[in-house]
Order: sequence, then C-alpha cells, then structure tokens
Amino acid sequence: MSEILSQFVTPQVQAAFTYAVICLIALYVLVVVWVARDAYKRGANVVLWTIIALIPIVGVIAYCMLRPPLYKLDETEQELEVALKQRELSKYGECANCGYPVRDDYVICPHCHQRLKNQCPNCGHALDPSWDVCPYCATQITSTPQYAAEDEGERVRTHRRA
Ligand SMILES: [Zn+2]
Ligand SMILES: [Zn+2]
Repeated sequence: MSEILSQFVTPQVQAAFTYAVICLIALYVLVVVWVARDAYKRGANVVLWTIIALIPIVGVIAYCMLRPPLYKLDETEQELEVALKQRELSKYGECANCGYPVRDDYVICPHCHQRLKNQCPNCGHALDPSWDVCPYCATQITSTPQYAAEDEGERVRTHRRA
C-alpha cells in the first residue's frame, strides 16, 4: 500500500500540493480581508461579518447574499439625487388642458395657450388664483379674474379667424 502511495507521491506532486495549500490559505486570508473592508464601506457590522467570513467558503457566500446592497456613501448620494430630482419635478406641473409639462411660474401653456395662472398687473409675475395680493410687489389683486375678459376676446378673435 505504502509502495503504491510512494509511487504517486513524487516530490513534484508534493510540491504541487504544498503550492495549492499555500494558494488556498492566501485566498482564504484575502477573502476575509475583503469581507472586513467591504462590510466597513457598507456600514455593516465589521466584527460580526469578519467572524462569519472566517468560516471557509460558507462565510463569504453568506456575506455576499446578506450584505447591505449599497455603499453607505452611494446611498447618501442617491438620496440626495432623488431629493434633487423631486425638487426639480415639483417646479413642473402639467397643463390641465393638454398635459404638457409646465413650470409653476408659467402664466400660459406654451403648447395649447391655455391660461394657467393669473398675472400681476403691476410686475407681471405669475400668481396663484387663490392669492389676493402679489407677493412680489404687494399689489392688491382684485377678486374678479382679469384674464376672463382677455380670454373672451381671444376666443372671439379665434372664432372670427375660423
Ligand atoms: Zn396646454
Ligand atoms: Zn406684482
């Protein structure tokens, strides 16, 4: 039996085996270090995950499956980006008439010319219909919407053209 073994276990085989073991140990150490660093970057529990990673193979697979999905920094950045986009979007609304995206300071829809807001007679700023004073120049806004007459005129003109 030992003769057969000694036939197979030549010095070359022994060297190859030693080499493989060294590689495996190096890989194992690297994996544990990677898990510790990755867990730190993701803001996870470093000590806990390092201990789990010490379990060969199973530890690192468990970490890959259960680790927090995003880097801590990325997460903050993404949240900021989303907040920014929402703010950007809140500046826009939709035209009630045609659905065209309009900014909240538009007075008229650039697409279908639907009147969207009142306009301050003094400074020309867009005003919310519920306001009775212009917040830009303090002009009192009369309760009767000014644009009604304009609209009427516009309609008559369009009618005449048609
Ligand atoms: Zn429109
Ligand atoms: Zn004004």
